[in-house]
Amino acid sequence: MRYVSEFREPSAARMLAHEIRAACTNSWTIMEVCGGQTHAIVRFGLDSMLPPGITLIHGPGCPVCVTPLETLDKAIVIASREEVIFCSFGDMLRVPGSSLDLQTVKSQGGDVRVVYSPMDALALACKHPDREVVFLAVGFETTAPANAMAAVQAKRRRLDNFSLLVSQVLVPPALEVILSAPASKVQGFLAAGHVCTVTGYEHYRPIAEKYSVPIVVTGFEPVDLLRGILACVRQLESGRAEVENEYKRAVRPAGNPVALRQIEEVFEVADRKWRGIGEIPQSGLVLREKYHDVDAERRFGVEAVATEEPSECMSGEILQGLRKPPECPAFGTRCRPEAPLGATMVSSEGACAAYYRYRRNRGPSESG
Ligand code: SF4
Repeated sequence: MRYVSEFREPSAARMLAHEIRAACTNSWTIMEVCGGQTHAIVRFGLDSMLPPGITLIHGPGCPVCVTPLETLDKAIVIASREEVIFCSFGDMLRVPGSSLDLQTVKSQGGDVRVVYSPMDALALACKHPDREVVFLAVGFETTAPANAMAAVQAKRRRLDNFSLLVSQVLVPPALEVILSAPASKVQGFLAAGHVCTVTGYEHYRPIAEKYSVPIVVTGFEPVDLLRGILACVRQLESGRAEVENEYKRAVRPAGNPVALRQIEEVFEVADRKWRGIGEIPQSGLVLREKYHDVDAERRFGVEAVATEEPSECMSGEILQGLRKPPECPAFGTRCRPEAPLGATMVSSEGACAAYYRYRRNRGPSESG
């Protein structure tokens, strides 16, 4: 398949690994920001192709993993109401809230449905004018345009039975939190290519300059990732800290202006909680005042629901690259994909799930 097989070509990957080995004379720690990148690295064993001086650590870019516990608890309160059809992407259903998950609400009779887009939820609102249809709008800059479009369409069609439970987060403020942490080891980033298809990458330049870190926009296939690592290593070795695009087939410097206008129309930037990390200033999107009538938190009166994170799960440290999944005492024992304690074990993009799927038989020291 074009755009996939050519970027999984083993000979191209081996050649890039050779170039990385030739370029690397020091030790460097590089964070891949997105959970999709983590899965590809672990699945294809890309870290084992690198010289010993390069350490890859896994970043916070898994939308399911960073959705705060209290958003799940709000979702559960709303989904349990008789008049509600609660719509979500499938991987949110098994993420544990503080006592239940959405799958349990469904098994207890709640009308919880898996959809593939907020527009599917909008179609349900048209079809069931006597029901309240709520879409769980989570994710990074990648999901924000479609969620914004759903809000615009709901108003345009005067669908007063549709609303969004919003937990949208933004990548750049999280990178700054990671870089500002005293224990941070990150010296370079592989930025998430799909986020940059929406936002572009110009806004990364001040971060690269302020913290002296190279930021390389990188795709998700083995060749994409190795190209990103090579570009990052070359910058680190030559003392540069620039923003580079190694995902040119998808990403333009200014991103997608139509999608950005749609986001701007519906959302504004605000402080947001991240699961396992806590509140990050100016790191999320909330509905603008003129869209408050599609805000599910207001409609169902759940704004005040607040939940403390459990202490056992160390996914916050994993999401900031401070630890790797096998270092968690619960990994593979009390916490497994079929019985997850934290979101990073649930999501198809979660680092704990990736290690469990591909590396659970190795000890912590062998697990990269
Ligand atoms: S293994 Fe489970 S408990 Fe440990 S950090 Fe990952 S999700 Fe949390």
